[in-house]
Amino acid sequence: METQGNACTSLLRGLILVLLVASGTAARADDTTPGRDPKQPIDEAYTQKIRKYTTAPYFSSPLVDYLPASKTVPTPEAVLGDVAGAPGILPYAEEVYRYMRILEKATPRVKVFSIGKTEEGREMIAVAVSSEENLKRLEENRARLAKLADPRTIQLDDAEADRLVAQAVPVYYITGTIHSPETGAPTALMELAYRLAVDESPYVKRIRDSVITLITPVVEVDGRNRMVDIYRWHRSHPNDFYPPLIYWGHYVAHDNNRDAMGVSLKLTENVLNTFVGWKAQVLHDLHESVPYLYDNTVGDGPYNAWVDPILTNEWQMIGWRNVADLTAFGMPGVFTHGDFDTWSPGYLMFIAAMHNGVSRLYETFGNAGADTETRTLEPEEHSRTWYRPNPPLPKALWSQRNNNNYEQTGLLTSLHYFAENSRLFLKNFYLKAKRSVGKPSAEGPAAYVLPADDPRSGSQAELLRILEKQGVEVSRARTAFTVALPAKKQTAPKPDAKDAAAAKPAAPVVREFPAGSYIVRMDQPYSRAADALLDYQYWSPDDPQKTPYDDTGWTFGELFGVQVVRVTDPKVLDAPMERAVAVRAPGGVRGEGAVFAIANHAEPALATLRYNLRDVSIDAAEEPFEAAGRKFPRGSFLLRGIGRAELDRVASELGLEAVALAEVPGTKTHPVRAARIALVHTWISTQTEGWWRMALDNLKVPYTYISTQTVAKENDLRSKYDVILFPPLGFAVKPTYIVNGVPTTWGNPLPWKNTPETPNIGKEDFTDDIRPGLGWAGLARLEEFVRKGGLLLTAADTSSFAAEIGLAGSVSTTPPQKMKIVGSVLSTLVVDAASPIAYGYGEKLSAYSDNGPIFSFSNTAGARPRRRPASDATKRPTGRGTLDDPDFVVGRPGVETPPEPKTEAWETPAATDEQLRNGYRVVPPAWRPRTIFRYADAKELLVSGRVEGGDEIAQHASVVDVPSGQGHVVLFSINPIYRGETRGSYALVLNTILNYDSLSVGRKLAEK
Ligand SMILES: [Zn+2]
Repeated sequence: METQGNACTSLLRGLILVLLVASGTAARADDTTPGRDPKQPIDEAYTQKIRKYTTAPYFSSPLVDYLPASKTVPTPEAVLGDVAGAPGILPYAEEVYRYMRILEKATPRVKVFSIGKTEEGREMIAVAVSSEENLKRLEENRARLAKLADPRTIQLDDAEADRLVAQAVPVYYITGTIHSPETGAPTALMELAYRLAVDESPYVKRIRDSVITLITPVVEVDGRNRMVDIYRWHRSHPNDFYPPLIYWGHYVAHDNNRDAMGVSLKLTENVLNTFVGWKAQVLHDLHESVPYLYDNTVGDGPYNAWVDPILTNEWQMIGWRNVADLTAFGMPGVFTHGDFDTWSPGYLMFIAAMHNGVSRLYETFGNAGADTETRTLEPEEHSRTWYRPNPPLPKALWSQRNNNNYEQTGLLTSLHYFAENSRLFLKNFYLKAKRSVGKPSAEGPAAYVLPADDPRSGSQAELLRILEKQGVEVSRARTAFTVALPAKKQTAPKPDAKDAAAAKPAAPVVREFPAGSYIVRMDQPYSRAADALLDYQYWSPDDPQKTPYDDTGWTFGELFGVQVVRVTDPKVLDAPMERAVAVRAPGGVRGEGAVFAIANHAEPALATLRYNLRDVSIDAAEEPFEAAGRKFPRGSFLLRGIGRAELDRVASELGLEAVALAEVPGTKTHPVRAARIALVHTWISTQTEGWWRMALDNLKVPYTYISTQTVAKENDLRSKYDVILFPPLGFAVKPTYIVNGVPTTWGNPLPWKNTPETPNIGKEDFTDDIRPGLGWAGLARLEEFVRKGGLLLTAADTSSFAAEIGLAGSVSTTPPQKMKIVGSVLSTLVVDAASPIAYGYGEKLSAYSDNGPIFSFSNTAGARPRRRPASDATKRPTGRGTLDDPDFVVGRPGVETPPEPKTEAWETPAATDEQLRNGYRVVPPAWRPRTIFRYADAKELLVSGRVEGGDEIAQHASVVDVPSGQGHVVLFSINPIYRGETRGSYALVLNTILNYDSLSVGRKLAEK
């Protein structure tokens, strides 16, 4: 419907334009007509260059094919030495900032704000452009917007809201180049700022007067500067291949645009604070990986189920109108809809969707640099579809200027549409906030409760701090309180079920929560942000969308391993409570004594404590014990040789409770080591291992960061390291790719090094040539490291690598047939609670898995595991008698077939007597894989997200410890450290590290 409406509007507008021209009144165009004001002189030289660098006239528009001249305000040429989008020119972030600050000095229509620092200490900025009057009254305006943003401040009074809407100026926030290889946005945004400040055409003036445009020209500043280094290297070595951008940012690559839930990166936090602080209405994020302009605001289904339908309608209005506007200019390849599904709230733009604004995203077409090149598209990119009636050209000469033209034209028409409809969008901003406040009585729930008696108070506090970062108000109960919880739903009885009566809805359960429990009320403006993070997700395998764009499940309570109770009973809101600010877990020392015990509840802070107190003797209890009237689970820490005061200080900081004991408990113990860690990366991709680095850095667990090439060169890895972590690359590659790397028989070396030519590169790690891989020598070194007592830990794709290349004993991986598990939360169960890896965990653990490898074990060296469904053994062959009768052979007495030993999917089959006859290939029980956790049964596997064909991985090992030589290889099928969202499974890795030389503790061996 919207398309038709917009097409009509464009037609009508075209007609009006024709009429205006015909009647000779075009000279004084009204403010709905895009194009220059003929009375304002243009910058002739700049304009000529725009036209020169645009490769065809239809790759431009009347909004950007000229540059208005100004006597006082310098153009981007002042810093770039050429026009925005000129070939060969890619500015560093500092150059972009310098220009923005030149603008700020030259015109009262521009103001620059520092919005924080990056991981590497570089500045991030936001540039406000609007009329002088609007910028003078920023604070006054912000106060109005703040009231609309929090309707509780005006008692949800619609009439007052209307008065505020009439006076307020909306804020439209644009963010550029979050993805460092997508390089065009900074110059487009420099020129956009100039146009918005200088252009006197009625069309642009309308924007300037009615909207505050806020611009962060570079979101990933660390990565931008590295990208510019690479581009400049390429310019000075024009005949060479140039290295790919191995490090897009300090920690991760494209995943920096998946952090809007966990808010663990600085760029997310800075943009979030800016969006929420300015009470902005739109967050429009610029990307460059689809020709020529894909407005993925509309996307495809399924839409995120927690956003207000008012927002999804705004997406349609803005998106389709935007396409219509650019199509009317004759620009090919502009479309919306497409294959982006808008389910996950992890994208940067979703900060707006979760905070009552409008999230928007452009994919324009970039050349990953500023070279002009002929670009040939894939058929699916240039095909004509119902939503792309004017597709991109199959082949075209494409320049950075073209890209800048599309970006600016899209933004200017968007801003103009927003200006024209600012009252509507401001009112919607208020309505969405008001409906968020009304959530308890509308769709519910009333609140989420995090009980005060959760043993994992550290992870609970961490989860609550993320909600606080999201702008969510957290409250704390002053007294105990009770609420009614709905009874667990009975599964619908089969029609012929005898006990249909038993399936009647059960009575609700009353639950009491202790004083001090945390309450996340849903009658607050940002309730949706909390609801989306804490609720469960279900993506049906029958959904027409078969290729989810990103993760399908993320339930934070599950992934943090803490209790989160969804409460629909409105009584919860009446519990006496107060606002909790900067939530912290309680910690410190209780009691008197020379030995201190800290209960192990799989809190990551325990590892921080171990490394912080390097000289203190810390042992782990191998069995649960009771002391000082308390219960301590397996793995609890016992500390000696530390003063009470020092421990009290450290434990308070870390939110750990230590109990002083008069004497050492009698339980068996072993030392907990501050193991020396190497974290290994490839030169293929550092995308997913970056989340591991970030987690270890945040926990202050030290490690040496080395590449697979360094592994190959180290003479004796074991003398330097106790533990080698080899976290996932983020996508499965052939195991031989990790070994061989890129052939060096052709091409030139691709350096990743800090040189005067590339000052921003090579500080993470460096090499003269990124092409060589681990090498067969490196593989031998890893094998030797384990043989000599080292511990190698792999996860997800590196576990597949280890199994397939032969580093993991008799572990194999089975390729999935129908299984499709797309970034989901799965239920796993402890198999061997006595293993130190399981310390602090209960029976169940929810974990993140993305089509994790399916592990199977063979009892014979070199053999593939036999696939034999357990049920086969119970079937009988064709013969005499009934199903339960024995068969007989005519002419001899019957014999019973010896029963086959049952083997579970997570176990190694016992060796048969036949195998054991001269069984030199039979793996002795002590050398078989020890499964610590396994995936739950198929029926219980899904916690959140999408699972199809889950029976293929159900019951198989999710964490397995493989002894090898004097050491161990520990393989994870799940990814335990991911996007700052999986704190509940961090301790699996940390336990493995701290107990690397005691991993066989508690192991029970099979008989055969
Ligand atoms: Zn991108």
